[in-house]
Amino acid sequence: MHPFAYTRTRDTREALGAGGRYLAGGTDLVTLMRAGVEHPDTVVDIAGLPLRGITGHGGLRIGALVTMAEAAAHPGIRDGYPVIAQALESGGPPQIRNVATVGGNLMQRTRCAYFRDVTVGECNKRAPGSGCAAVHGRNRGHAILGTSASCVATHPSDLAVALTALDASVHLDGPDGARTVPIDGFLLRPGSTPDREHALRPGELITAVEIPAHPGPLRSGYLKVRDRQSAAFALVSAAVALHIQGGVIRTAKVVAGGVGTVPWRLPEVERRLVGERPSPGLWARAAEVAAEGARPLRHNAFKAELLKRSVERQLRALGGTE
Ligand code: SF4
Repeated sequence: MHPFAYTRTRDTREALGAGGRYLAGGTDLVTLMRAGVEHPDTVVDIAGLPLRGITGHGGLRIGALVTMAEAAAHPGIRDGYPVIAQALESGGPPQIRNVATVGGNLMQRTRCAYFRDVTVGECNKRAPGSGCAAVHGRNRGHAILGTSASCVATHPSDLAVALTALDASVHLDGPDGARTVPIDGFLLRPGSTPDREHALRPGELITAVEIPAHPGPLRSGYLKVRDRQSAAFALVSAAVALHIQGGVIRTAKVVAGGVGTVPWRLPEVERRLVGERPSPGLWARAAEVAAEGARPLRHNAFKAELLKRSVERQLRALGGTE
């Protein structure tokens, strides 16, 4: 492993001025450092910063250092936002969830095998300008939406998909002060610069994620389809949040994971739902446009059909036929 300086602090301002790579649970960063993919000169251990609370006043604010297990067990999340709890519980074995944090979950990097293998020369995300081994290589798990000629990797976070369905925002702090960005704009599509993965400026740190209050009760849930039931990333996932009042769908949020280079909102599916009364025919009609715009690669064309079926199944599970 590349030699690095290690510093630990309990003071947020001190951490922001330390000028290094932030380390919280370390479940992804340490793995990447061991593999030689990441080689920071300085690591700043932020696990002691006061960013651990979960508070709610209408919506919910989750500190960046809350662990995945703590968030998934929190009554306010389980009762009010099951889509979050289900996404977190599907996001790795308990050993990981007990130490991995909410902020770190958003910052985790792609599981593209070519990215994580430094013996592979072509990877624009790891070595800008080197090419993309996945475009003509094994790409069964890669994206079909939001891809570019430079990169076709999926973002691996289940939590980010669920947060997108709830219109969450990400609170940041940095050398130039605090700011908030919508989760929709936090993770970046690859374009011609796949090494730029998020909206963080140099030295910035995620301090919390915030779910806004919703005018009415939400039915929400997360469906994850994967090759095995444990410790596997999504082939396809669907996060759905519906507000149904008086037998009519008032709002619908539908976001897909495992298929996009970022969590992939499905606005046409949402449009087909809003103002309608739940029925089996409605779920199928809405889901049939879920894969619009998809550009499958050689090995992952199956994801388009799997996406439609997953969206329909999750809509039916939450909406019923009332
Ligand atoms: Fe690298 Fe992206 Fe290509 Fe994977 S898909 S090899 S991460 S450039």
